[in-house]
Amino acid sequence: MKRNVSLEEISDGRLYRHNDMVKADCHGCKGCHKCCVGMGHSVILDPYDVFRLQQGLGKNLTQLLAEEKVELSVTDGVILPNMRMAGEEERCACLDGDGRCGIHAYRPGVCRLFPLGRIYEDGDFRYFLQTGECGENGRKAFQGRSKVKVSRWIDTPDQVRNHDFICKWHYLVSDLEGKLSEADDLEESKRLNLLMLQIFYMEAYESQRDFYEQFEERLARWMDKGA
Ligand code: SF4
Ligand code: SF4
Repeated sequence: MKRNVSLEEISDGRLYRHNDMVKADCHGCKGCHKCCVGMGHSVILDPYDVFRLQQGLGKNLTQLLAEEKVELSVTDGVILPNMRMAGEEERCACLDGDGRCGIHAYRPGVCRLFPLGRIYEDGDFRYFLQTGECGENGRKAFQGRSKVKVSRWIDTPDQVRNHDFICKWHYLVSDLEGKLSEADDLEESKRLNLLMLQIFYMEAYESQRDFYEQFEERLARWMDKGA
């Protein structure tokens, strides 16, 4: 999800790469679950998140939608799945009664990043550190964080291929947003949205096969359909 704020307002002003040390380690969150509550539609799932959830829980997106763990929402004109925030407190549907993530090992990439964010430029991205949002007391709590290597914090294997995938996915979604914002044909907008959902999300992934190979195959199909 894009945010219309300046980096100076929300970060320490630095940009980070995988091998950099960043003051993001919140020591197991110590009873805080602030970023699992009231997040609206912002915990968006990418295809790798859906693959990882399927591997860990044995459930595809259709099943997670049926269980109301996940919902579909429109972000910048594009229909994408996100973790559902439920009830008056708007708690993530995967947050357990003790305020811990019930799917920690398979949690989405957005959750792995926090309090880091990504900034995209020239076909690539770097990370920035959000200084006012992590911990119950925002900036005060931020002072208690320790340094950790970005790659360790993100806790995702095969980071070179993952980085490549994240870039491709980001620019694919951005292109689609552009097309949909210019489209005056509602039927075409609907077709593109449904096609993307179908190809990248609704068709179950093969849990035992390499994700990135499957993504490339689906990407080729997406391009073949003139999207
Ligand atoms: S998936 Fe887990 S870490 Fe992410 S918002 Fe939900 S409870 Fe929090
Ligand atoms: S806001 Fe920060 S400390 Fe609190 S749960 Fe999220 S990552 Fe952990």
